[in-house]
Amino acid sequence: MDGRRTGGPGDLAPANVRAIAPYVPGKPIAETARELGLREADILKMASNENPLGSSPRAIAAIRGALDALHYYPDGSGFELKAVLARKLAVRPENIVLGNGSNDVLELAARAFLTAPDSAVYSQHAFMVYPLAIQAIGATAIEVPARAYGADLEAIGRAVRPGTKMVFLANPNNPTGTFAPWADVRAFIGRVPRDVLVVLDEAYGEYLPDALRSPSPAWLADFPNLVVARTLSKAYGLAGLRVGYGLAHPEVAEVMNRVRQPFNVNQLAMVAACAALDDEAFIEQSRRVNADGLVQLARGFERLGLEFIPSVGNFITVRVGDAARVYDHLLREGVIVRPLAGYGMPEHLRVTVGLPEHNARFLAALERALARA
Ligand SMILES: *Cc1c(COP(=O)(O)O)cnc(C)c1O
Repeated sequence: MDGRRTGGPGDLAPANVRAIAPYVPGKPIAETARELGLREADILKMASNENPLGSSPRAIAAIRGALDALHYYPDGSGFELKAVLARKLAVRPENIVLGNGSNDVLELAARAFLTAPDSAVYSQHAFMVYPLAIQAIGATAIEVPARAYGADLEAIGRAVRPGTKMVFLANPNNPTGTFAPWADVRAFIGRVPRDVLVVLDEAYGEYLPDALRSPSPAWLADFPNLVVARTLSKAYGLAGLRVGYGLAHPEVAEVMNRVRQPFNVNQLAMVAACAALDDEAFIEQSRRVNADGLVQLARGFERLGLEFIPSVGNFITVRVGDAARVYDHLLREGVIVRPLAGYGMPEHLRVTVGLPEHNARFLAALERALARA
């Protein structure tokens, strides 16, 4: 962890912070339009796993109804949102930590429990926020080689050593879309020593087929070292509002709440989340559109002779060869996808499932990009 020195005031930061490689988000529409001289309306963003259907209409209506009270601070305890979640998930409000997105929850877990001498384990090709959160603390990040692009639970278990405090596991995983059967995940958590927290990131859980839906809230009673992180950013279509939550043993939740900003989730986000969580119709529609889109994209890749990683998320990762060049060609056509060189996958691109016409436009642009790259 060697932070570069510049001779400037940035050197005042500790080496672990200077060594952080910043998170690279999907390229914003406005920036792409500016740089390429395109109209924003002509740009198709399939880069950040956002919901192509927009937001839950109930959430939008709830936000409209809450606009007159923005001069008040939000309820820092999140009483109402916790009540909705507790009812929906059959947990207690004491089990819940609210976050400014589930990114916040991941960071709260790291900030509350990790210190510099500790280590934390995660899989190769896992979500980039895990190493970032670990590094910001100055703890040691242990990356375990993936198996067939997915988490190798046996190897992750073996990587846990004295001083390991935390394991991050995304299921399904982003950016690979891979999935570990819940029985395997449960057995894995059972094998991990009780003084190691397992942070189970379920950002894409809503997209799983019925037979694979996560049973993890019911595991809290068995595993005091389990933290489940979920988000309203993906299937609920509220990425711009920033709201997510963690589920954990009440003592774990209480400790995470101590390092939380008192008003970390804003009022509109909480109001919208309460409404969205009750909007089953929107989630069902999102799941259907996504399942169809995954098939459409997979067929398209097969037709183009491209290898892809079968996905259970709302995105799919495809091997295109010189991904940086293909990405550039797509960008020039106004189609933004996600390059994965930062995830150690320089030949792959990740594309978010869109509406049928989005997927078709992307596939046509991809075919042209491949011919030129
Ligand atoms: C998108 C995503 C999140 C959630 O991000 P938010 O902060 O809730 O918007 C968490 N984990 C993974 C793996 C993700 O892909």
